Amino acid sequence: MTSTATTLVEFRGVEKRYAAEGRAAVTRLDLTVERGEFLTLLGPSGSGKTTTLMMLAGFEAPSSGEILLNGRSLADRPPYKRNMGVVFQNYALFPHMSVAENLAFPLGVRGNKGAAAKEKVDAALALVKLDGLGDRRTDALSGGQRQRVALARALIFEPDLVLMDEPLGALDRQLREHLQSEIKRIQRALGLTILYVTHDQSEALTLSDRIAVFADGAVQQIGSPEQIYARPANIFVAGFVGENNMLTGTVLANDGEQCTIILRGGQIVRAIAAGPLALGNDVVVTIRPEHVETGQHPSSCCNAFEAHIEELVYHGDHSRVRAELRGGDTLFIRTSSDEPPAVADRLPIGWCTDRCFAFPAAGIVEASTGDGP
Ligand code: ADP
Ligand code: MG
Repeated sequence: MTSTATTLVEFRGVEKRYAAEGRAAVTRLDLTVERGEFLTLLGPSGSGKTTTLMMLAGFEAPSSGEILLNGRSLADRPPYKRNMGVVFQNYALFPHMSVAENLAFPLGVRGNKGAAAKEKVDAALALVKLDGLGDRRTDALSGGQRQRVALARALIFEPDLVLMDEPLGALDRQLREHLQSEIKRIQRALGLTILYVTHDQSEALTLSDRIAVFADGAVQQIGSPEQIYARPANIFVAGFVGENNMLTGTVLANDGEQCTIILRGGQIVRAIAAGPLALGNDVVVTIRPEHVETGQHPSSCCNAFEAHIEELVYHGDHSRVRAELRGGDTLFIRTSSDEPPAVADRLPIGWCTDRCFAFPAAGIVEASTGDGP
């Protein structure tokens, strides 16, 4: 991807090896962060997300390649001259100081003291809705309040960019969801650029303007949440973001756009060809549980089958069905809770071609660094 006038950060061919002969923690990283966007690095543990953030913050140096901020190389710039706010999961506040003293600290370091600093501290407290708590010691705060102080401390010196590494990982679900919407609100209100790291796909989908999916130190796909969810670039993304049924089969025909697959049980499936597929190749066919239709509708789907209902789990707003196709493939189906099928039923099911993708079965395909499909 190339930089434009709105580009704030650019990684150019960045690689990081912690040991000279070890495997790369980050490899071939070409990535831009646009001014004002919320970009999330999403990937499993060990995929290189924190390493990427540490290189940008200046706490680690790339082994090769370069990182630009506003078009200028960061190679010789120390962390404190990069003007970035950081919020990490375990980035401790100073426990012996009050909330206000914690917030004034980054201002003092930058020579900003007195009445002007006091005004900024009050504004920062209001921003994270902690008005009146300035005198409280930080060890007398709840976990959620502490994370909000950490957020305020990262924002108080009006940084060009805020880096957040799993900032909500230690909090319970309700608090996490609350702070997610707070972060989003503050980002919009201040027009902040945020580079956010998480391994939680639902957090990434709700917060981000764009998501870069990481695996094995490389970007697998970058795009809007909708692009990543609706058109995963490879089998890794299809399995990691949201849920997908994965059925194995062999290519019978392929016109470049759509292909015909025969599943293990002999069923014929029409799917989008997601990658180069030659006749006779082994493929993995993906279909999301919510895209499997049941009952009378499937007759209108071009992929229509019969499934045997093995198990039904009630979730309140929906039910989750475990079904088996003839030949032994297991399929999970999400249905409304109003008319769930019964266990042991033979149920007509089906899905449309444009919801269903055939990927080459041979592992993770070549990393895509384009703008998504
Ligand atoms: P993530 O944040 O996605 O979990 P990391 O960037 O922390 O991934 O780690 C990527 C890889 O680099 C992992 O294999 C990890 O073990 C390795 N790694 C991370 N930090 C160091 C370090 N300081 N020294 C050596 N290896 C490291
Ligand atoms: Mg990490």
